[in-house]
Amino acid sequence: HNLREPFSHSDRIDPFQFKFQFKNVEYSSGRNKTFLCYLVDKGRADDGLMRGYLEDEHSGAHAEQAFFLQTLPDYDPAVKYTVTWYMSSSPCAACAAKIAEALRARKTVKMTLFSARLFEWEEQEIQAGLNALSQAGCKLRMMKPMDFTYVWDTFVENNDLTFTLWEDCQDNYEYYHEKLVCRDAHRYLQSQD
Ligand SMILES: [Zn+2]
Repeated sequence: HNLREPFSHSDRIDPFQFKFQFKNVEYSSGRNKTFLCYLVDKGRADDGLMRGYLEDEHSGAHAEQAFFLQTLPDYDPAVKYTVTWYMSSSPCAACAAKIAEALRARKTVKMTLFSARLFEWEEQEIQAGLNALSQAGCKLRMMKPMDFTYVWDTFVENNDLTFTLWEDCQDNYEYYHEKLVCRDAHRYLQSQD
């Protein structure tokens, strides 16, 4: 992919913020902000790839909703969009419902959502939100170690430094991946009733 224009420094995430906010620990205390890195491919060679990130503020709209309002405000049903998100944390119930609604209204948007952590995965409301997202065609994935490296290389003000993964990155990925897959298995069992 060729990018439309070089990324300016202010468009990149501060490396300390990245290392804190994206750390895939089981208990995410102090991480009350969501970072959302996005890639949008409209499938046209001359149009390049849109790339950037959003972070939510305490009082303002969540990053997920800001994406549809600010980053992709105009939808053209003649265009096939491939959208990839890398989020520090999976969406809250309200955002999951909003994303599902946005995808149902934008049939030619194919979305894959990677997250570093699952937000409140024990909550039924959250699981219902994630199920609604899957049903709207959104692929849900946990970030693997290679995805953290990719986000570092692509979205972080990395000063050409190589990213060193934290020690338990793979284990934490497996922990969250299992929760995400178990949710699917649970839904499958329910659908067999
Ligand atoms: Zn939200």
